[in-house]
Amino acid sequence: MTESTRTPPSPALLERFAAIVGPRHVVTEPDAMRPYLVEWRDLYEGVSPMVLRPGSTAEVAAILALASETGTAVVPQGGNTGLVGAQVPDRSGAEIVLSLGRLDRIRAVDPASDTLVAEAGVVLERVQAAAEAADRLFPLSLGSQGSCTIGGNLSTNAGGTGVLAYGNAKDLVLGLEVVLPTGEVLDGLRALRKDNAGYDMKGLFLGTEGTLGVITAAVLKLFAKPKAQEVAVVGVEAPEAALSLLALAKGRAGTQLTAFEAMPRMLVDFALRHLPGTRDPLPSAPPWYLLVEVSVGTTDAEARALMETILEDGLTAGLVLDATIAGSLAQARDFWRLRHGLSEVQKYEGGSIKHDVSVPLAAVPAFIAEAEAAVGALVPGCRPVPFGHLGDGNIHFNVSQPVGGDKAAFLARWDEMNAVVHGIATRMGGSIAAEHGVGRLKRDLLPGVRSPVEIALMRRLKATLDPAGILNPGRVI
Ligand code: FAD
Repeated sequence: MTESTRTPPSPALLERFAAIVGPRHVVTEPDAMRPYLVEWRDLYEGVSPMVLRPGSTAEVAAILALASETGTAVVPQGGNTGLVGAQVPDRSGAEIVLSLGRLDRIRAVDPASDTLVAEAGVVLERVQAAAEAADRLFPLSLGSQGSCTIGGNLSTNAGGTGVLAYGNAKDLVLGLEVVLPTGEVLDGLRALRKDNAGYDMKGLFLGTEGTLGVITAAVLKLFAKPKAQEVAVVGVEAPEAALSLLALAKGRAGTQLTAFEAMPRMLVDFALRHLPGTRDPLPSAPPWYLLVEVSVGTTDAEARALMETILEDGLTAGLVLDATIAGSLAQARDFWRLRHGLSEVQKYEGGSIKHDVSVPLAAVPAFIAEAEAAVGALVPGCRPVPFGHLGDGNIHFNVSQPVGGDKAAFLARWDEMNAVVHGIATRMGGSIAAEHGVGRLKRDLLPGVRSPVEIALMRRLKATLDPAGILNPGRVI
């Protein structure tokens, strides 16, 4: 990964930046800066002259105007949970971190319009809670929801476990307030479900990983809160059976099927070893575990009947080996805690090489089989733990190092293994960046999966919106 060739800003320039937010909101002391410079898997560690913590849209605008005027690189950061290294400064010491954490107000909740206006730094869990307090649902749900922010979610177009029923983050937003790299403020905080007046500008900032503008607030869509839910953990033999059960569940539940997640036995073992208080929901230890959720607008009895129908029909069809329905809210939470903990627990099993791919649903079993065989041939003894959002065809094809192997030697095979796995996904019509984005991790892979016309258009958009090239330089393109 190439570092920026910019030189670090002078002390006099840094003082001008600091004056915008005031001394209390500038971080320069090494220990206090560290959480902003290191990402949670320790894959990226950056160097920065300062972290700025603006408290208003006007302060963000002043920072970006000064950055554009002086050619200073700025890296927007929300909860720092991104998985592609985009939110961490590089090692040049030239990139200022712009932390949006102080923009943390929920400006309005409007149940009559089913909307909520949140500032960029509001943590996802707080948005979910504010919706719940108004008897509504904000359906975005990720393992990182206690730390990630709405600004980060929209900038990465986060997916998560609710996509099957409600779509990705960009499907959940009606309007945006954005500061452009030049410092101009684009006030598009409109709460309209129909608005075809000209180009849809918000699309420029959703999923573009902070390269085209800094989101400062958003109008989010709320949904009717389900009156009843059932969550089950289901054991199946193989991905083929999981896919058949998905089709069966969709047939019985339609849009009431709200989650369908897959986890291989080995990854459940990782969770049992490393997540305190985790219990195995299926002591029969089947090869694959599925987390299935249904949500209804009527009664507990209807939700239970729907889940039982899916499981009984699955058993009759020979797809289900074992299953358990959560007997209480606490047990349902335990099932979800197990699922949401799967990213974290891989950290404790040594080196892990990650792939965030999607393939057409019908190709999921063949993809997993081929990719497992290929990585096993490449690094004998490695431990593939493909898991994730099976209902969306999105598999986190992660591979843990061989037991007792050398972590550094294993991680040195990262690019080689990526090439093999991405090659299989691409051949099957899939994507190499399904929901985590491109950032720095996959930037150099993008030209291999996008046409020259698409790449040229991306560059033209970047040059138009960010003529000084100051915002998240070297990320995505
Ligand atoms: P950051 O990590 O701080 O930033 C991410 C990107 O957004 C960077 O490019 C940054 O520059 C930019 N950015 C941040 N804020 C702004 C802003 N206000 N304006 C402009 N640009 C901004 N992701 C999924 O999609 N699905 C999952 O299921 C999922 N599960 C996860 C589980 C765990 C345990 C972890 C650690 C991560 C997971 N992620 C998942 C990845 C991550 O949580 C998401 O990408 C999330 O949306 C990032 O939000 P953040 O606030 O932490 O952003």
